[in-house]
Amino acid sequence: MISVSEALALIKTHTSQLPKVEIPLRDSYGCFLVEEQVAPISSPSFRQSAMDGYAFRCGEIYELEVIGECKAGDALEFDLQDNQAVRIFTGARVPDQADTVIMQEHVEVNGEKISIQKMPEKTTNVRAIGEQVQVGEQLLPAGTKITESIIGFLAGFGISEVLVFNKPKITLIVTGNELQEAGSPLKPGCIYESNAIMLESALKSRGFDSVQILKVADDLEATKKSVAQGLEADVLLISGGISVGDYDFVNEALQANGVQEIFYKVNQKPGKPLWFGKKGGKLVFALPGNPASSLTCFLIYALSALKIMSGNPDVDLNFQTGVLKHRTFNKFGKTLFILGTEKNGEVEIYPKQASSMLISYALGNALVLIPENLEVLEAGETVQFLAVNRN
Ligand code: AMP
Ligand code: MG
Repeated sequence: MISVSEALALIKTHTSQLPKVEIPLRDSYGCFLVEEQVAPISSPSFRQSAMDGYAFRCGEIYELEVIGECKAGDALEFDLQDNQAVRIFTGARVPDQADTVIMQEHVEVNGEKISIQKMPEKTTNVRAIGEQVQVGEQLLPAGTKITESIIGFLAGFGISEVLVFNKPKITLIVTGNELQEAGSPLKPGCIYESNAIMLESALKSRGFDSVQILKVADDLEATKKSVAQGLEADVLLISGGISVGDYDFVNEALQANGVQEIFYKVNQKPGKPLWFGKKGGKLVFALPGNPASSLTCFLIYALSALKIMSGNPDVDLNFQTGVLKHRTFNKFGKTLFILGTEKNGEVEIYPKQASSMLISYALGNALVLIPENLEVLEAGETVQFLAVNRN
């Protein structure tokens, strides 16, 4: 059985970025830039007034005659003399012959004249050309994740299209005869289905919003059909049916659809029966059905692959470190993923840890990794954890 790090390495080897696409800036939230963005214009591209006030030439003259007005959007020229000023408003183009803007609050207005009490320094309240960025300078490096501020920033340069990596389309197949939807009392022997909505939320909250969900009974032919349909996506996630029971048909259905197995089973708890394979560039993760196993395998493995596909340069798991509050055992010789809370660097592990339970996941904020070769960790020892349930 392979280790967690071997499984991660195999996923990296077999996963590639999706093709590049030019898309409207407004649709690019959460995508990653293929190439650096360069400023097509300077910002600002003309000298702008930063205030409502008066534009004039800084000097020794304190009484100025107001000869005109310049509001935002105007492109007027004035033959401005040293003893003259132009009424100006925030965002307006400063006339070429003016070098300074005085705030209206700092002058006294007497009819067509203003008087200045205290001479401001030259260039005060004038935004210089290229003050933010000069034409031709780099706006953003390749690999940048597009956020709302980046959309606003690029829009300010007149950029309306960006070259990004395509985001993967995902199909999620949920298997199990026992699964029942919320909305009616449980039938005997059934449980409420929870993996579909959990994994869909995990995907959508990370910007993977093209998610199709298929639900299938424990039936070979039905599973084969769902897998064939699911393979139209870039990534197929399957929940349940990958163990060795007589009614686990996922492995056979994947083989029947020509999906090549890369690995099956990882030396970890929960999540041992993880299956990973590919067909062409399409990836398949068959996640164990137990909810904590499904989520752990999603967070550790499927998410890493989804990040690579979407061009995210930051694909490595972002482990943080904390100090154990109490002694913790690992009796299994496997990598343990257990839940706890981390507060001010101290990690407290929850008592209820089982693949079938989500209670500790729901209450915790740290997915703690206990290495397979450590049987006991004492209070005060350092552990690695991934932040969960935090935004
Ligand atoms: P399986 O991996 O199909 O053998 O399922 C393992 C355990 O997880 C069983 O107890 C299932 O009832 C449970 N399980 C499987 N799929 C789901 C699901 N979608 N939601 C909640 N529990 C599930
Ligand atoms: Mg099952």
